[in-house]
Amino acid sequence: MFEDHRAFIHLGTNLGDKRKNLKTALEHLESFSGTICSFSSIYETAAWGKSNQPDFLNQAIELSTKLSPFELLYELQSIEQKMGRARIEKWGQRIIDLDILFYDDITIDYQQLTIPHPLIEQRRFVLEPLLEIAVDLIHPVHGSSIQALADSCSDQSQVLQLRDDR
Ligand code: ATP
Ligand code: CA
Ligand code: CA
Repeated sequence: MFEDHRAFIHLGTNLGDKRKNLKTALEHLESFSGTICSFSSIYETAAWGKSNQPDFLNQAIELSTKLSPFELLYELQSIEQKMGRARIEKWGQRIIDLDILFYDDITIDYQQLTIPHPLIEQRRFVLEPLLEIAVDLIHPVHGSSIQALADSCSDQSQVLQLRDDR
């Protein structure tokens, strides 16, 4: 039998009914990708890397999955497409974005799939939700905890935890 793997996924949305988008994405993840073991609160953040677009809602989840990393990427991209995501410009607005942050402690370095996601340590909007659910996780490349990465992250943007999200 195939083993279960532990993956951390980051969700982002800044178009349409953002809370509903997160909820729909979680339902799709449960249907197509595995079992959600834990999920963070929802966070609100200004757009990163490209301003002049609506604020984002972000969330992190831990997924137990039997899929390989590339199968998981394929399922995430299928969910993005099912939900109507159009790729128009880099870092532009989107109904849903699903990124693989970590997959067990493996490292993969292809353009199509880089694990751990290469910008984790530069993005407070990724680190803050992750901190809630990944206290025991050590970044397999940097050898640092998520807390240590958050402490040394130079991104000063505000990441607001929304309380009424469960
Ligand atoms: P960023 O990766 O900087 O957050 P983005 O999420 O806006 O940017 P996308 O347009 O969603 O970028 O994806 C571009 C490509 O990134 C995808 O086609 C995918 O193959 C590739 N990719 C590489 N590594 C990953 C990963 N860890 N998770 C998801 N996609 C990845
Ligand atoms: Ca992304
Ligand atoms: Ca993406």
